[in-house]
Amino acid sequence: AINEEADDESDLLPRAPIVTVMGHVDHGKTSLLDHIRNTNVIAGEAGGITQHIGAYNVTLQDGRQITFLDTPGHEAFTAMRARGAQVTDIAIIIIAADDSVMPTTREAIAHAQAANVPMVFAINKIDKPGANPDKIREDLSQMNLLVEEWGGKYQCQEISAKKGIGVDELLEKVLLEAEMLELKANPNRRASGSIIESSLDKGRGYVSTVLVSNGTLKQGDYVVAGTSYGRIKAMFNERNQRIDKAAPAEPAIILGLNGAPTAGDSFHVMETEQEAKEIAGKRERLQREQGLRTQTR
Ligand code: GDP
Repeated sequence: AINEEADDESDLLPRAPIVTVMGHVDHGKTSLLDHIRNTNVIAGEAGGITQHIGAYNVTLQDGRQITFLDTPGHEAFTAMRARGAQVTDIAIIIIAADDSVMPTTREAIAHAQAANVPMVFAINKIDKPGANPDKIREDLSQMNLLVEEWGGKYQCQEISAKKGIGVDELLEKVLLEAEMLELKANPNRRASGSIIESSLDKGRGYVSTVLVSNGTLKQGDYVVAGTSYGRIKAMFNERNQRIDKAAPAEPAIILGLNGAPTAGDSFHVMETEQEAKEIAGKRERLQREQGLRTQTR
C-alpha cells in the first residue's frame, strides 16, 4: 500500500553516517559515547544531552555530523534487523586493551558482518598499566580480521575513552569509512525511516524516537508506523528543544501517534490522515488474524 518511488540521482544529497558502538560490557561503550557527546556539543548550547535517548546527532568542531544509535545491547542489529530495518551504516567495535576479544565482541562482529556493515575497531583503556593493544590485534587476526597497521583492511584506533585520548582520530576514521560509502538521501520528499524506541508518557501521551532515513519529517505530517498512526503534534531534538523538521540521518522525538510502535518498525509519512489510518488498520487486522491462526493451531 505504501508507494516508495525510487529517487532520481540528481535529487540526492550527502547525509551524515549513522553509527553504532558495540562491545563487551565494561569495555567502555558508555564512556566513549559520553566523551563524544560532552566534547562535541554544538557551540552555544549549554548542558548537552541530558536524558537518555536512543539516537542523537553530534556536530564536530569542523561542522561534520555523525548520528549515533545508542540502543541497549545489540538491539540495533537484532530486533531491528529482524523487522527489516537496516539502520546502521558503520559499527564501532570497542575492545578493552587490558582484556581480550570476548564472546559478546565476537557476537557484535558477527552481527556487523551479517548486516554487511563496515567496522572500525577501537582499542580502549590504553591509559591502563595492564593495557596490551597488540594482544587485541592478535585476537582479531585469529578471527581473520587484520587491522590496517598490520597490513589488513580494518581501521583501528587506540583510545582512552576516559581520558579522551585518540577519540578525535577514531571519529576521523569513522568519517573516512563513511566517505567511501557515499551516503546520500533526498531531503525533498515525504519522510520515511525507522522507529528507534517508543513509550507512553503520562503528560505527553505516546512518544517515539524516530530516525529519518529519507525525506524530511515535519511537524503536522501524517505518519503511519507499524499499527499506529497520527499527526505529529510536536517534535523535539535530543536536547528536548522544539524543532519543526528533521532531515535525513537526523533523529527526532515525535508526539501525536495513537500507539507505541516497536523498535525497528518503519515509519512513513502519508499524504492524508485517512491514508495513514487505513494502512495502520489493515496491519492491525492482519496481525489479529495471524494471532487467531496461531491460537487455533
Ligand atoms: P560499558 O559497559 O561498555 O558501557 O563500559 P563503561 O563505559 O561503563 O566502562 C566500564 C568501566 O571502565 C568504568 O569503570 C569506566 O570508568 C572504565 N573505563 C572506560 N573507559 C576507560 C578508559 O579508557 N580507561 C580507563 N582507565 N578506564 C575506563
